[in-house]
Amino acid sequence: MFSDEITKYSWDDITARIAAKRPVDVENALSKQVCDIEDFMALISPAAAPYLEPMAALSRKYTQERFGKVISMYIPLYITNSCTNFCVYCGFNHNNPIARVILTPEEIENECKAIRRLAPFENILIVTGENPRDAGVDYLERALRVIRPYFNNLSIEVMPLKSEEYYRLTKSGLNGVVCFQETYHRERYKVYHPKGMKSIFEWRLNGYDRMGQAGVHKIGMGVLIGLEDWRTDVTFMALHLQYLRKHYWRTRYSVNFPRMRPSEGHFQPNVVMSDRELAQLTFAYRIFDHDVDISVSTREAANFRNHIATLGATSLSAGSKTDPGGYYTYPQALEQFAVSDERTPAEVAEAIRTMGYEVVWKDWDKIFD
Ligand code: SF4
Repeated sequence: MFSDEITKYSWDDITARIAAKRPVDVENALSKQVCDIEDFMALISPAAAPYLEPMAALSRKYTQERFGKVISMYIPLYITNSCTNFCVYCGFNHNNPIARVILTPEEIENECKAIRRLAPFENILIVTGENPRDAGVDYLERALRVIRPYFNNLSIEVMPLKSEEYYRLTKSGLNGVVCFQETYHRERYKVYHPKGMKSIFEWRLNGYDRMGQAGVHKIGMGVLIGLEDWRTDVTFMALHLQYLRKHYWRTRYSVNFPRMRPSEGHFQPNVVMSDRELAQLTFAYRIFDHDVDISVSTREAANFRNHIATLGATSLSAGSKTDPGGYYTYPQALEQFAVSDERTPAEVAEAIRTMGYEVVWKDWDKIFD
């Protein structure tokens, strides 16, 4: 389990090693075909800031070699905002006095039809809060069965499950699981997640092992940028990704770097990452891991997404609603976070094509399951 592996590393030591990187370390990393974790730390370090252009060129080269000039499209489907956790940065926090919605099978089906009217999406990310009693595995299984006839590729972003539960859901059409560790800083993790199941650091951390053991086709990882030192956090995630690749080599992986946006709780980020730093991080991940999918959500602005789509990203969401029932427009409560890129899927697709890239709505068929 990664909870054993992580004990080999110290947060403070990694932070210090990143800060000690010099231009020569960056140049050394850029000259290599295969980078190790020390190279990765050099590429995300402040010393790499003046090297953004060569990093972008290398990132684009590796991305085109591995994926072609292609962007895969996906859309999130929020089916409940009910949550028993208390994450201090989230609009769905149990303490927030908002109307809670758990969509019925009929309402979920209406959402599917509304998405189909919106654009030819086939990659759906089903999102919930964490409420094991009222929206647990049985509910997820029923939801997958309702959604399955409408779309070919189903992923979930839900509470961490047991291995046998992930396996059970793969039998109902589940292809991928996205889970953000939020932060790898064990002590600070408890400050952001004070109560509820999510407060158990190891349960979340080892969830990726359980996904791999269950044979989930694709695992999505991420840290929430805005909590702790982002350079240290993404380095731990790179170590985690390396570990998972070694142990669950049949699985595909994706990464995402969500920057914190305003929420009902008015939590202000502790750390602010600039656009240039997010670009640097994206390039560093691509140079470090040529095969990983890099996903960029509508949290980011249109202009940034247009640029990053040709420089390292491989997957974009579009037209996203982050409130349950948002596509069919049930009376609404609250979005989990504010969307920044408000273009329609057609507008996003057109912008991608204008840049000479192909838009892919479908990259998986049910028949492969
Ligand atoms: S981040 Fe997830 S688990 Fe935490 S309060 Fe929000 S919906 Fe619940």
